[in-house]
Amino acid sequence: MTDKPPTLLRMTSPLREDFEIPYHDVGADLGDTRVALVGGIHGNELNGVFVLARLASYLRKVEAGGIDGQALRGRVLIVPAVNVFGLNNASRRWPFDGSDINRMFPGYDAGETSQRIAHAVLEATRVASYRIDVHSSNTDFEELPQVRLYEPTEDERTAARHLGLRAIIEKRPDKIFTTTLGHSWRYHGGVNLVVQVGRAGSLQLDHCSTLFRGFVEFLAHVGVIEGLELADSDHDFHEFSVTQSYPLVSESSGLFVSSLKVGDWVQAGQTIGNVFDPYDGEEKLVIGAPLPGLLSGIRRQPLLFQGDLIASLQLVGRESPNPPVSNPGQ
Ligand SMILES: [Zn+2]
Repeated sequence: MTDKPPTLLRMTSPLREDFEIPYHDVGADLGDTRVALVGGIHGNELNGVFVLARLASYLRKVEAGGIDGQALRGRVLIVPAVNVFGLNNASRRWPFDGSDINRMFPGYDAGETSQRIAHAVLEATRVASYRIDVHSSNTDFEELPQVRLYEPTEDERTAARHLGLRAIIEKRPDKIFTTTLGHSWRYHGGVNLVVQVGRAGSLQLDHCSTLFRGFVEFLAHVGVIEGLELADSDHDFHEFSVTQSYPLVSESSGLFVSSLKVGDWVQAGQTIGNVFDPYDGEEKLVIGAPLPGLLSGIRRQPLLFQGDLIASLQLVGRESPNPPVSNPGQ
């Protein structure tokens, strides 16, 4: 790119270097913004940053007529990384004061830096008809690429299906959720989705490919990309209500290992993983699936303490006996 990209916010400071949050305004001459996509509110959630940056590059090519048969018919705003400084050292939080930008919404334009960032992100994106905020789980836990819905409208349910992800999971909006971008958007109408993809701290390329394809299909569905052939048959997706999420919590400490992949279906009693003693190597525990379901998340950092989240199952056609746990990563 030769032109300097537009910026959401530029802040100067006598004590540290200036900073800017760059974004992409693709199809700026096509009227009002149709779709806004935000990633990297947490600076260690790299899957979203990578996919959104690649998507901006792809849409520029479509806009320039460089992809056979495809044309850009709507304006798209993309912020690949909100937490520009956190990205430097893979930090979830805003490095200078340790604040979590996704606990600062709706923000305040005369407040602390992270409040100003939140305000700028909301101002830039609230004009869009469709808005998607991309997250990953924390560095310990990997999640199947999934749409998270919070008391959704019918339009949001429909839009979620167009993202082409395997799981659409409804969550109850908790107290923390009310301070997030996903919640603040709701006061501005439109369709608002939160996507959770993989694990923080590294890139999982298979999840990135899935999400990239999903975004391109979504943009075709909402008329932003013209000329893309959409598959006739519906893809393989599953919708889960708030009561169908089953968090599996550890009752023991040790080294947890699992050979399962997120997205696997498990049967009742099937082994999810094993806990070993880290010194003598003896198996302490076999962790089995209590009920059949879709493995939507699994622990990848093996050092396990009692009470840690081991796995998330989405049950089919039945309610979970376990209460929900808070959402890592969001
Ligand atoms: Zn996040």
